[in-house]
Amino acid sequence: MKEIKKSRIKQIDDMASIVKLASLMFTAIIFFQYFFNEEGMLLDSFNSISIFMPIVVGCLVLTIIYMLWSFQVHENTNKPVLKYKILIENILFMVILFFAIVISGANKSNYKFIFLFIITSTTIQSGMKSGIVTSIIASLAILVMDILCMPGASVNKYFQDDLLLAGVFILTAWPLGFYVKIEGEHIEKLENLVNMDGLTGVYNHRYFQDSLKELIISAKKKKAKLAMILIDIDYFKHYNDLYGHQKGDEILRCIGKILRDNSGDKSITARYGGEEFAIILPDTNEEEALKIADKIRVIIEKTKFYGEENQPSGVLTVSMGISTFPDKARNEVELIKSADDALYRAKFFNKNRVETYSSILDDLKNDIEEKDVELVTSIKTLISVINAKDRYTYGHSERVVLYSKLLSEKLGLSKEEKSNLIQGSYMHDIGKINISKEILLKKMPLTKEEWEILKSHPEEGIEIIKPVKSLEKIIPIIKHHHERFDGTGYPSNLKGEEIPYLSRVLSVVDSFDAMTSNRPYNKRKTYEEAIVELRKFSGTQFDPSIAEKFIEVIEENKEKFDNLR
Ligand code: GH3
Ligand code: MG
Ligand code: MG
Repeated sequence: MKEIKKSRIKQIDDMASIVKLASLMFTAIIFFQYFFNEEGMLLDSFNSISIFMPIVVGCLVLTIIYMLWSFQVHENTNKPVLKYKILIENILFMVILFFAIVISGANKSNYKFIFLFIITSTTIQSGMKSGIVTSIIASLAILVMDILCMPGASVNKYFQDDLLLAGVFILTAWPLGFYVKIEGEHIEKLENLVNMDGLTGVYNHRYFQDSLKELIISAKKKKAKLAMILIDIDYFKHYNDLYGHQKGDEILRCIGKILRDNSGDKSITARYGGEEFAIILPDTNEEEALKIADKIRVIIEKTKFYGEENQPSGVLTVSMGISTFPDKARNEVELIKSADDALYRAKFFNKNRVETYSSILDDLKNDIEEKDVELVTSIKTLISVINAKDRYTYGHSERVVLYSKLLSEKLGLSKEEKSNLIQGSYMHDIGKINISKEILLKKMPLTKEEWEILKSHPEEGIEIIKPVKSLEKIIPIIKHHHERFDGTGYPSNLKGEEIPYLSRVLSVVDSFDAMTSNRPYNKRKTYEEAIVELRKFSGTQFDPSIAEKFIEVIEENKEKFDNLR
């Protein structure tokens, strides 16, 4: 839409420039008539080619400069500067036209109508107000000239004629300007229809994407920061189920308004999807974005919404995720993705919360040697590829990391063990990158060959991280995370304490997340059912002491886990 608008403005400017050029040509004819006498000779005062030629060349050069300026400069200039330039251009034209009229006979001139050129082009380009002002100035110019040239005349024929001409000037500017105004308003209405979300009155998804692209380009140029907030209403499905979609729509409208009113003048608030909103904050860093987001979160929490007392938490709330360019994301795709990750984390921690993006890996980068950072960043990309391939495991790695963090506290692991466990948790499924979507998402039981392929992922995974020297210590954790305590696991059939300790820990949390996630082949278990399962397989699949400790973690954090999805 913005492109269409730009091209329209350019076309109008081009047209106005053509009209102005045409008026220059007319002026040139007037000058020629003045410089040549009736027999085609130069007038006495200009009887030398040496005087005449520079004038012609000068006019030509000026015309060419004007053409280049008007067709090119308009494209890349910002609005206020452009307005100023158009004003100067118009004043210059008025002066040239006035001069042409003066030398072609002043009050007796037959060319007073040439003001119509500048009146029409100004009206089309700058609207009714400028058009009428120009027509009034033109009218005054010719009328004052009539009075000054025939002082004291009892009947001033030229003045009478020019009164008519002034009427023509104004009557040209007014309806034309009115038409331009109506057309402008009409276009604005259409733009609103195209750019706005019909339900909530904030911008729509397409406008959001277009603006984000443009704002990132301009932030890159200016070396400025830009923040993005992604907002999702908590338990909205629950609200809709209780009160119906129409009441739900009212909430969306109201939240849209709160977001728009509280995000600042330069921000762009848009409806990103069903019940998700997004705010772009140009020239804003993470800290400022956090302040704005939290202010909005509190306003929404405090606003009284119809029937909110029946929401699971007794109030209607939102969760928000923040990311920033260029610190946390290099382009618009990464910005949205990282804000989405942050939002996911906000949901994870009990909702009604603002989270900024921080990748576990970004945090871990501090522990990783400088030369390996780039490789680790590509590992992060691999994990997003796996997530995209298998939507059932979306967020699986991040969840496993969170469980591992909690369990490592409970187990009293050392700082180094904790860090290794977290890195291992994050990357444990990296070997799935080469496994096809068909196998990962298969509903039927896997064939023997497919099963063998799937079982290869711990070893494939260590092949990927092997080149990264600082990840050496997590190789055994990843390699053995599918071993079983009774020795029937893979790839090495290790048994009991032969299995590295942290692999045994990872095995428990990994299995717990698999049980409590929806899988292609089975429905998710409740946390109680998962605890039963952990106990049932203690000693066969799981290290019993670790499983027991993790059950304590689940019981202590039930509420947090309940709000997980
Ligand atoms: P969570 O707290 O995790 O965000 O849970 P949730 O119930 O809000 O789940 P989710 O974010 O997935 O919300 C999806 C729901 O949003 C489904 C649908 O009921 C509701 N929704 C989506 N679009 C609209 C809409 O245009 N109008 C209304 N009234 N409801 C919508
Ligand atoms: Mg949602
Ligand atoms: Mg929601």
